[in-house]
Amino acid sequence: MRSRLLALAASVALSGAADAATVMPLDRATILVGSPFDFKVEFEAKVKADEVRITVNGEDYRTALGAGTGFVEVETDKDGKELGSAVLLRGVRIAKPGRYTVEATAGNDRWSVTWEVFGTADAPKARNIIFLLGDGLSVAHRTAARLMAKGMTGGKANGRLAMDDLDRMAFIGTSATDAVATDSANTMSAYMTGHKTAVNALGVYADRTPASLDDPRVETFAEAVRRQTRKSVGLVVTSEIEDATPAAVVAHTRRRADKAEIVEMLFSVKPEVILGGGSAYFLPRAVPGSKRRDDKDFIALFREAGYALATDRDELQAIAGRDRLLGLFHPGNLDYALDRMQLKKGTVGKFPRQPGLVEMTRAALDSLSRNPDGFFLMVEGSCIDKASHPLDWERAVFDTIEFDQAVAVARQFQAAHPDTLVVVTGDHTHGMSVIGTINDDLPGDEMREKVGTYAAAGFPNYEDRDGDGYPDRVDVSRRLALFGTNGPDHYETFRPKLDGPFEPALKTQGGTYVANDKYKDVPGAVLVKGNIPKDEESGVHAVDDVVLQAAGPGAEGFKGYMEESDVYRVLADAFALGATRTVANSPAGQASAGEASAGKASAGKTPSK
Ligand SMILES: [Zn+2]
Repeated sequence: MRSRLLALAASVALSGAADAATVMPLDRATILVGSPFDFKVEFEAKVKADEVRITVNGEDYRTALGAGTGFVEVETDKDGKELGSAVLLRGVRIAKPGRYTVEATAGNDRWSVTWEVFGTADAPKARNIIFLLGDGLSVAHRTAARLMAKGMTGGKANGRLAMDDLDRMAFIGTSATDAVATDSANTMSAYMTGHKTAVNALGVYADRTPASLDDPRVETFAEAVRRQTRKSVGLVVTSEIEDATPAAVVAHTRRRADKAEIVEMLFSVKPEVILGGGSAYFLPRAVPGSKRRDDKDFIALFREAGYALATDRDELQAIAGRDRLLGLFHPGNLDYALDRMQLKKGTVGKFPRQPGLVEMTRAALDSLSRNPDGFFLMVEGSCIDKASHPLDWERAVFDTIEFDQAVAVARQFQAAHPDTLVVVTGDHTHGMSVIGTINDDLPGDEMREKVGTYAAAGFPNYEDRDGDGYPDRVDVSRRLALFGTNGPDHYETFRPKLDGPFEPALKTQGGTYVANDKYKDVPGAVLVKGNIPKDEESGVHAVDDVVLQAAGPGAEGFKGYMEESDVYRVLADAFALGATRTVANSPAGQASAGEASAGKASAGKTPSK
């Protein structure tokens, strides 16, 4: 009987306790020592302040986590319905590594969670970190990029990707706190805070109140770098700069769609280098094309803060090497690499002078490397994901090749500056696979008869005669057969989309998506029935693990299977962000309002904003 009860208890633990979300940080949270975070307990009913009892390792929370009770009599939902009382403390810190058990009781309700507060090495291992993230980067994207860019003879690749030579490797679990499936917000947030969170959330735990900007915060990597070091911070992306991945480096919101607010958060952290798209959220509403609903002019504000501005590749060249760079090259996402470099489709006609990821990475390194204290640079190949959603596999692979060339730039920098840790990873995967080739020379009237499988696949015949590392054309006669595992109803054309990015499905008046008739008459096209809900316009993310690779000082921390939140720990260790020393010129007493030092054994750290 006893063993059966134990087995039952174990199975409950495996499925996750239903009420665990009411203490934040959640059970099994890992917290950087000395890092400020918000503490919240959500009671399921209205309780009286004097019946609340919360302890941290047996000690009253007001002593253990700092001053104040933080009692909230009642929280309400968006309709004003009462949800219960809460305790909320902002900006508490724990100064000593160890296991911390938090117990909360009020009336008959009782919660218990355990956190691990971790320290780091006292001395940094690396001066610089270059963290390169291919959004949606899956194993198939890598394989396809290698086959397309380097070719293959006799079953052996004719060349290697830059990312193939990073010597440390780990499989990374990407799931969110509320679902196995995931998005670019919670995934990058886990990398950049060490805390897993809910789908769509950035730098916060998701609480129950409707406001998106009041959720319990955790410190981002850029904030920790600011608090503990004098290093510079850089962001380089091909999406909007306020999109989920770059936002996760600096921002705190339950809704990744709060893009106007994310620009304000970007401004408060002020990364020294900001390069990408998304200018529409920087412009005051009076300016045509602005997506702001206020009169704030962030272009002017950044300029006043000493930033040199660039809006195209020529201007980027002109400001190269300046200390603070703001490059906004598109109102939205930059165009796909295939369109920018070869096809000139999408919005390239309107914005013909967009720089690529490689140029932007070079400019960022040129600027950031002038700081003798070092830097953290995040580079995102953003549009690998953006092309994978609409099942536009050639565009996704071309962006993967561009991303790999940015990895090559990082590796060249590392060769000259060996105190640099280079990390290459994805945030989540897509359900794409390479299954063989599509060979126009195979017999048959139907295009599906031209799909070469097994021995009939042979090898693709892409060519790179100009030696730029990209195939000279993607519509060769024996091309990769790339297919997705999921999607809406759509026509499979078995061909690259040369006339512009693929739009597989169109929305009906009823809100569902149907196959886009535009591709119906492409010779040999077949209708593929969707296998996901009809209100999904495109393919969705996969839950499959991501492969992370790394090289340089600290890279030995990456191995086996890791959660995305564990990756933060290796990054924090490389920079010694948990070190007890006080930053040399950080003036004392700059703790932000409400921030209180926690734990009896004060580490003597002096936080700065
Ligand atoms: Zn995506």
